Amino acid sequence: MTTPLYTVACLKNRLLASDVYEIVLKKPANFTFTPGQFVLFQVPLLKNPKDVQPRAYSIASTPEEEELIFIIRLKSGGRSSIWIENILKAGMYVQFQGPFGLFLLDRTTPKDYLFICTGAGIGPFRSMILDHMKRPVLCHPEPKKAQHDTDSKRIDLIFGVRNEAELFWQEDLQELAQKHENFFIHLALSKASDQWKGHRGRVQTLVPLITKDFSNKNVYLCGNPDMTTEVKKLCLEEWGVRKEDLHVEGYM
Ligand SMILES: Cc1cc2nc3c(=O)[nH]c(=O)nc-3n(C[C@H](O)[C@H](O)[C@H](O)COP(=O)(O)OP(=O)(O)OC[C@H]3O[C@@H](n4cnc5c(N)ncnc54)[C@H](O)[C@@H]3O)c2cc1C
Repeated sequence: MTTPLYTVACLKNRLLASDVYEIVLKKPANFTFTPGQFVLFQVPLLKNPKDVQPRAYSIASTPEEEELIFIIRLKSGGRSSIWIENILKAGMYVQFQGPFGLFLLDRTTPKDYLFICTGAGIGPFRSMILDHMKRPVLCHPEPKKAQHDTDSKRIDLIFGVRNEAELFWQEDLQELAQKHENFFIHLALSKASDQWKGHRGRVQTLVPLITKDFSNKNVYLCGNPDMTTEVKKLCLEEWGVRKEDLHVEGYM
C-alpha cells in the first residue's frame, strides 16, 4: 500500500529560538498518527522548485490537537533549511507523506519514563508526554491500577541546547511541571553565558544527578546523532539500561 501524499496549508512559520523554527500545518481531515512518528516533507530546491526531495520531520503536536506542529533546527546550507528560512511562509502549500516510524512510547511499561533530547529532538517528546498525560496507560489489566500508574509514573525530561539563545518552550515546560507533580524538566546548557544559573554541560552530565538506578527507567533519546550515539553507549555499557528499555531516534 502506498502512503498518501498530502497537500496542506502552512499556517505558521516562525523563528522560535536561534536557528530553530516552528512550522504549523493544517492537519488533513483523515490524517492519524501515533506520538513519536514523523512525516516526509517534499522539499523543493531554491533554484529549481521542480527538483523535490524528501526530508523527515517529527510531529511535535498530539493527535488530539487540531494542527500539526514541527520543530526544525536549521543546518547551514541544507536544502530544507534554506527553504524554511527563505521561502516557506504562512499561506503557502506544503506536501508531505506519512506518518512513518516506530519511535513510539512504550505504553505498556510499568517503569518511569526518562526522555533525553537536544535541540529539535524535543519535538516528538512534546507529543508523547502531552498525550501520555491525557490518556490512561493500560499497564495492568485492572482499570483502577492502570489509573494509579498513569498518575504516579515519574517522567523526567532532559533538554539540552548550547546556550540561552537556543532555548525555547522553557516557560511551557515549567508550567507543565507545576501542574503535574510527577513531571520534571531539567535543562542542560553546554555553552551557557555567565548569567546562566542552571546546569552547565551536555545532557549526559545531568543524567547521573537525576538517577543512578536505571532498573526502573524506560529511556528515550532524540536529537543530533552524535548525542544519541554517545548517550546510547552510556545507557547500555555504563548505566545498565536494558536494551528493550531504550528507544533512540537520531536526526541524521
Ligand atoms: C526520523 C527523522 C526525524 C527527523 N525529525 C526532525 C525534526 O523534527 N526536526 C529537525 O530539525 N530535524 C529532523 N530530522 C533531520 C531532518 O530530516 C534533516 O536531516 C535536517 O533538517 C537537515 O535537512 P536539510 O535539507 O536542511 O539539510 P541537507 O540538505 O540534508 O544537508 C545537511 C547538511 O549537510 C550539508 N551538505 C549537504 N550536501 C553537501 C555536500 N554535497 N557536501 C558537503 N556538505 C553538504 C548541508 O550544508 C547541511 O549542513 C529528522 C531526521 C530523521 C531521520
